[in-house]
Amino acid sequence: MTTWREVAEGVYLRAYQPLDVTTCAVAGADGLLLVDTRASPSEAAEIEADIAELGRGPVRWVVNTHAHFDHTFGNQHFGPGSALDLPIYGHHLLPLHLDDHERPRLAAWRADPSNEPPRDWGQVEITPPTDLVAARRSIDLGGRSVDLLPLGRGHTDNDLVVHVPDARVWILGDVVEASGPPMYGSGCFPLDWPATVAGLVEQIDPGDVVIPGHGDPVDREFVVGQLADLATLADRLRALHAAGTTVEEALGTQDGWPFPVEGLRLAVTRAFRQLDEIGCEVPAAGGR
Ligand SMILES: [Zn+2]
Repeated sequence: MTTWREVAEGVYLRAYQPLDVTTCAVAGADGLLLVDTRASPSEAAEIEADIAELGRGPVRWVVNTHAHFDHTFGNQHFGPGSALDLPIYGHHLLPLHLDDHERPRLAAWRADPSNEPPRDWGQVEITPPTDLVAARRSIDLGGRSVDLLPLGRGHTDNDLVVHVPDARVWILGDVVEASGPPMYGSGCFPLDWPATVAGLVEQIDPGDVVIPGHGDPVDREFVVGQLADLATLADRLRALHAAGTTVEEALGTQDGWPFPVEGLRLAVTRAFRQLDEIGCEVPAAGGR
């Protein structure tokens, strides 16, 4: 049975199945900020019903950590045109990712539902954030301020971190994952991901609570460990590409990967494509 866990004063998380996706709620005097909306309007309605258990007021603000379906397809339940009509905050590149990856994904699932567990895909209306975040900004929840930090390329190009400074909590979305290896999914940037996490690690203090998009809360040390694995993978991808290895040859090698190779097809494909493009690039005068 899933329940809310209070990981710091007024900061709650709940792990939902399927996909073990973490939803967070941050309480202020004026209401709750909800982080991520799950994979469909009915799943989002379940969050709204569950959140009443907290007795900390209604949801007033919604944030998406990134565009992937399991974090945004519930947006329509909370966003413009809904009964709640709430603002939804997201990285400024999130709508582009929805168009490039999540709309085609939804269309494919609707065309052939046998590819996925039955969900109410027909009910989903992809709903982009109303408030696009291009630089660090704060939201005042009433007596508590929450910071939104849009990141560079990593798990996607539209990852956004929610920091609750007074509770020393970081809500990272899928930039870090704890219930399985990092997900190299649609729109991932395997070569850039380590630098993005390295920049984040510098801001996280020992003792801070770190909430991944999937899995139990972790700490700074866990993030440092995952960063090492992300960097190992990026280095390996560069080396394989430099040696002229093809995608299929790379995926055919079993040893030396920091994560199970079965989950790395998109990592290899996207990294090699990016390296191909860099190879063709004519450096601008004065360097890159
Ligand atoms: Zn994701």
